[in-house]
This record gives sequence, structure tokens and C-alpha cells, in this order.
Amino acid sequence: MEPKYKRVIMKISGEALCSEKNHPLDFDIVANVADQIIAIAEQGVEVGIIVGGGNIWRGARVGAHMDRTTADYMGMLATVINALAMQDALEEKGLQTRVQTAIEMRQIAEPYIRRKAMKHLEKGRVVIFACGTGNPYFSTDTAAALRAAEMEVDLIMLAKNVDAVYDSDPKTNPDAKRFEYISYMDVINKGLAVMDNTAITLCMDNHIPIIVFGVNEKDSIQRVVSGEQIGTTIK
Ligand code: UDP
Repeated sequence: MEPKYKRVIMKISGEALCSEKNHPLDFDIVANVADQIIAIAEQGVEVGIIVGGGNIWRGARVGAHMDRTTADYMGMLATVINALAMQDALEEKGLQTRVQTAIEMRQIAEPYIRRKAMKHLEKGRVVIFACGTGNPYFSTDTAAALRAAEMEVDLIMLAKNVDAVYDSDPKTNPDAKRFEYISYMDVINKGLAVMDNTAITLCMDNHIPIIVFGVNEKDSIQRVVSGEQIGTTIK
């Protein structure tokens, strides 16, 4: 089937990659995500990936015990670990990729250069953006919104370990309301924990739609790209 989107940014939260036994990386999940990314890349979709780091380290959570800026730099380094794992899984299966980091570490990856990233995407290489925005006090959600605007994508795919946006946690509240569609403003006004407000606002200002979906649902990445209504659309 003809994909609905030409170019996408996929945000994979760190938690979506970790195992139930709390190992930071579940290699079966990483391989499954890689397979699906390859499937959509083979359909001609240009894919940029932003990986989170929450499976390893979250700056805001430890900020009370140490300097917040340092804690955030540690979080950004965590995203590099996930980016390299994702790169390894994709390349092992034959897809060409590049990791670009918002903080330079030239022995490991290219520095983020917009024009270069665009060229990689045009050539069918998957670009994995690491280190978030490169700034403390931000998140990888904001990085996804920023790179999405810079790369002029059609969609942000928000891959989570829940299948959609709810008005409360469906794991603890069986009556939680599930949204099929929701506006950017409602996400902000209802205080829904989907993306932080900085990221949502950036998407709203730049008219970038977001689809929130469960990364562990069968073929979810391909289904989103084909235009099937799964998860929650924020626009
Ligand atoms: N981080 C940051 N600036 C950024 C992106 C990330 O300081 O632009 C740090 C921050 O400490 C954050 C951690 O990296 O807690 C991991 O990123 P995030 O929490 O967004 O990962 P996710 O929740 O998606 O796994």
C-alpha cells in the first residue's frame, strides 16, 4: 500500500525500549522496531529517529540530588547509548543509517548539521538524532518537535509503551477515557502527560501533526504510515 507520509520523525521513548525485567534495553523490542522501520523505509518513507534516554537516566528525576544541568547532560549521554543500539540493529539488517548528535562526539557520530541530515534522508538513510536538543532543561520530545520542524516532516510518530492518549493512566484506572483525536490545546489544558508543553507548543505553532501509538502493538509503525487510524492523533 502507498504510504500516506513522505517524511516522518519517529520519537521512541527510552522506556519503550526497556525490558519488563528493567534491563535498559530489550533486544527483542529493538529488533522489532528495527524491522518495522526497515519496512517503511523500503516503502520509500524517509525516517528520522529521535531516541529518548529515560530507560537509563532522567535528569529532572535526579535533579534534586545533584546539579540539574549536569544531570541533564547525563540524560543526553543516555540517548547516545540508545541511538547506537538502534543504529546497530538497523545496520545489522542492512539499512544505511547515520547518528547525528546535538553535542559533538566525532569519534562516535556525526555532529548535527541540518543540510547533511536532509541529504541523508533524501538518499534513503535513516538519521538517528541523539543528545536531544543539546541543551539542559529540555527533553527529547522537544527535540522531536524541533527536528521535525527543521526536517520539514509530515508527521511526528510518538512510539510509546501505551497504545494511545488517555485522560488518566489506563494501568491504574480501568475507566480511563481513550482519545482518538485531540487538539494541541486540549493536551495542554487537560495537563495530559503525552509530550511536555514546550514540545506540544512547537508542534502547534508549526502545524506538525502527532500520532501517539503503542510500539509493541503488532505492525504499529507500518499501520501508522499506511494511514490506518490507530492510537491518538493530535492536531
Ligand atoms: N535531555 C536534556 N535535553 C534535551 C533532551 C534530553 O537535558 O534536549 C536529558 C534530560 O535529562 C532527560 C534525559 O535527557 O530527562 C532523557 O531524555 P527524555 O527524558 O526526554 O527521554 P524519554 O522520556 O523520551 O525516554
